[in-house]
Amino acid sequence: MSKILRVNMTNLTAKFEDVPEKYKLTGGRGLTSAITCAEVPPTCHPLGPNNKVTFASGIVTGTIAPTSGRISIGGKSPLTGTIKEANSGGMAGQKLARLGIKAIIVEGQPKEKGKFWLLKVDKDGAQLLPADEFVGKGLYETYPRFFAKFGKNVGIMGIGVAGEKLMSMAGVCVNDPQGRPSRYAGRGGMGAVMGSKGLKAIILDDTGGPGVPIANKEAFEAGRKKLIAALQEHAITKPGGALNTTGTATLINVINEAGALPTRNFSEGRFEGANKISGETINETCKKRGGVGMTGHSCSPGCIIKCSNVYPKPDGTELVSCQEYESVWSFGANCGIDSLDVTGELIRLSNDYGVDTIEAGVTIGVAMEAGLAKFGDGKKAIELMHEIGKGTPLGHILGNGGAITAGTFGVVRCPTVKGQGMPAYEPRAIKGIGIIYATSTMGADHTSGYTIAPEILGISGEVDKFKVEKSDLARNFLHTTAYFLDSSGHCLFISFAILDIASGLEGVVEECNGVLGTNWTVDDVVRMGRDIVKMERAFNEAAGFTKIDDRLPEFMKYEKLPPHNVVFDVPDKELDKVHNP
Ligand code: SF4
Repeated sequence: MSKILRVNMTNLTAKFEDVPEKYKLTGGRGLTSAITCAEVPPTCHPLGPNNKVTFASGIVTGTIAPTSGRISIGGKSPLTGTIKEANSGGMAGQKLARLGIKAIIVEGQPKEKGKFWLLKVDKDGAQLLPADEFVGKGLYETYPRFFAKFGKNVGIMGIGVAGEKLMSMAGVCVNDPQGRPSRYAGRGGMGAVMGSKGLKAIILDDTGGPGVPIANKEAFEAGRKKLIAALQEHAITKPGGALNTTGTATLINVINEAGALPTRNFSEGRFEGANKISGETINETCKKRGGVGMTGHSCSPGCIIKCSNVYPKPDGTELVSCQEYESVWSFGANCGIDSLDVTGELIRLSNDYGVDTIEAGVTIGVAMEAGLAKFGDGKKAIELMHEIGKGTPLGHILGNGGAITAGTFGVVRCPTVKGQGMPAYEPRAIKGIGIIYATSTMGADHTSGYTIAPEILGISGEVDKFKVEKSDLARNFLHTTAYFLDSSGHCLFISFAILDIASGLEGVVEECNGVLGTNWTVDDVVRMGRDIVKMERAFNEAAGFTKIDDRLPEFMKYEKLPPHNVVFDVPDKELDKVHNP
């Protein structure tokens, strides 16, 4: 029977508890948000003793359901002040689930400031160990030392120096199957919350663990097969399909063509160097340089999409894994940089220091606008990243994200919502995603509702990207994402197949029914997604957020974005209708 592991960093205790009835039929974001709402005072300081950070695998994570290795990490965000859930692939989600642990809740703070600990969990229990020897170092040095100490098969969720220094762009780093510190629950500063609790890393050894019980094997198998068939059929997700060959950066040319690739700190919608940083160029470079270079890499076992890559240096040795769309855009087009070798170096530094690549790229774009570097100056961008890693005074400003950096240097063009940097889709040119950024419970977050699927890719029907009446579309995406993707444990990228192929969608529900022994329908699951969003909004409202916070930055209303010369013209009442239809 699964348990909750409660870790108190004040008393340095780790105790197992029974799972309360109310948490038994949920997982992932549904569970992290439920625990945050139940146990965290909404007005608490995110880095103070009353915040908690919760780790929960998805409902089907740890089973053989395809592309389902996600771990959710939630609490109150130091970046946005809202509730937060960030999720990641990598090795930790499946190992946590197979240890029979529904969630780890970390609370309190160590009495001794600046002291860090490791939480080691295996089939025999959990213990806190001193982490002094691992503090203050890059993660490319630290992770191999974790494996040397704890064995090569452990799953790790750790923080880098940015998290230790409580910077609000700090993410939580999960190792990939080869042990790289490369997969991130990046958004919203959950790494800083971990740092505030003196928790350097969680080490999960699932050897001999009980595994994930499946209540109804027949339903599970039927659902799994339907989802596999849909993923293998869809042009975007199938083997040899777009994601598998050119990765998520296949979108660079597509979004650029649409005039919606934010360029030079959101001042233009097309980047003249787009093709040089595209998925197609990544693929060609991997082939040309050879060595370790590859596309079709999987970030966690059991993924059949395999959108990741290993990007080589000119001599064929590894530069970084991986160059994916958001990171390549944030350090590329958004900073006016058209070199994959430079974006690769900046991604590697983000992995090493433990920061979210979206927030870091948005912040460097703002810093460039402020005159700290020229757009396109890759060398200077790398120097700015080192400021973050060294924790200089400038590094602390940058490390606290785009909004703080813009405020410090008087930059009005600040592309954030609720303090969180916007991802790689320009809301002036794609209105639905702008509505999602404005009304998500997490700040600007494309993964809260990926309306790019219909607005740009024509998935589940074509929708005009300039149409402003999209509150219904946004609401549907916000609700379905909260459960189908973020709570079930599947990766966002199954959405292409399940939106277009109805049996794939049913398959996800049947997989969950199989694990939980429920008889839910697709409609039940949409309703549960709505309830998750409602609960999160109640937390945000109690923390002081109102509908006035559900807005995009003002400059987007009066600055016309080339090449379409459009502003964000979605009326406020349309934004308000998302949660109050
Ligand atoms: S589709 Fe990509 S990001 Fe998603 S689980 Fe597979 S490799 Fe990881």
